[in-house]
Amino acid sequence: MITSSNIDIKTEPVPFYTTKGTTVDILRADLVHPVISGNKWFKLRFYIEEALQLGKTTILTFGGAYSNHIIAVAAACHVAGLRSVGVIRGEEPERLSHTLQQTKEYGMQLHFSSRTAYAAKDVSPSLIRSEIYTIPEGGYGAKGAAGAATLLDHIDHAYSHICCAVGTGTMMAGLLNAAKAATVIGISVLKNNYSQEQEVRDLLINRQQAVYLLHDYHFGGYAKHTPALFEFMNRLYAQTGIPSDFVYTGKLFYAVQDLLQKDYFPAGSRLLLVHSGGLQGNDSLPKGTLMF
Ligand SMILES: *Cc1c(COP(=O)(O)O)cnc(C)c1O
Repeated sequence: MITSSNIDIKTEPVPFYTTKGTTVDILRADLVHPVISGNKWFKLRFYIEEALQLGKTTILTFGGAYSNHIIAVAAACHVAGLRSVGVIRGEEPERLSHTLQQTKEYGMQLHFSSRTAYAAKDVSPSLIRSEIYTIPEGGYGAKGAAGAATLLDHIDHAYSHICCAVGTGTMMAGLLNAAKAATVIGISVLKNNYSQEQEVRDLLINRQQAVYLLHDYHFGGYAKHTPALFEFMNRLYAQTGIPSDFVYTGKLFYAVQDLLQKDYFPAGSRLLLVHSGGLQGNDSLPKGTLMF
């Protein structure tokens, strides 16, 4: 069982970037657990705690066929002794993605939902039962942000900047809520999704806080990629042994390299990059794309 006290993740320096007087550390949250990896355990922890407190037996949540959130919920429920139900976007495919195959191994019951029903979060009436606790898609919500805030319990330095990848914005909001003096920079992995800023802001304790979201590093959109991204991820791994995923953290680490080259960070900055995990997503790539 993962608990906040037996998590052993640390920050480490990244001897990779040309830093021009800045220092760059990485928080290896990818090492929490092989499946409930990265930010997902943090975002889920207070939802699951509440479900257990309320005596619920089953967790229901939503996601796509390759979703890190779905597989993390399946594994976390398995560990916590809860049943899980996943409402999956789209028609049932002939062959399940490796992600969904694994969620089934964790005992998750899958319900495929047409894109329109999914968008409305319409679930079959058979799924609306009192023993079910619903976690919003992607863990988005105040509890998710409160859990993500506890990522920063695992750092032991002050940082001028904390950089993270942004999907629903739950992790970024949690980091902003916990960050004290650091500037939090979010790298959006979605294309031109300018409502993200408001979604982050809606989860802030101080709604006046600045939200710095950069929209230039999506590589074509959510889960899109280019050869340059893979080349970068392979080079990062070859030089540091740090694996990254092509949906979130590869884009984050690439963005930081570009921002450093452009002198975005003032000299003397001390950067923390959050490795939010998600490595299982790489299994959907053709073999040999990545060297790890
Ligand atoms: C889910 C996920 C994110 C995005 O977190 P949000 O809280 O949805 O913004 C970032 N990185 C990885 C690896 C993820 O799996």
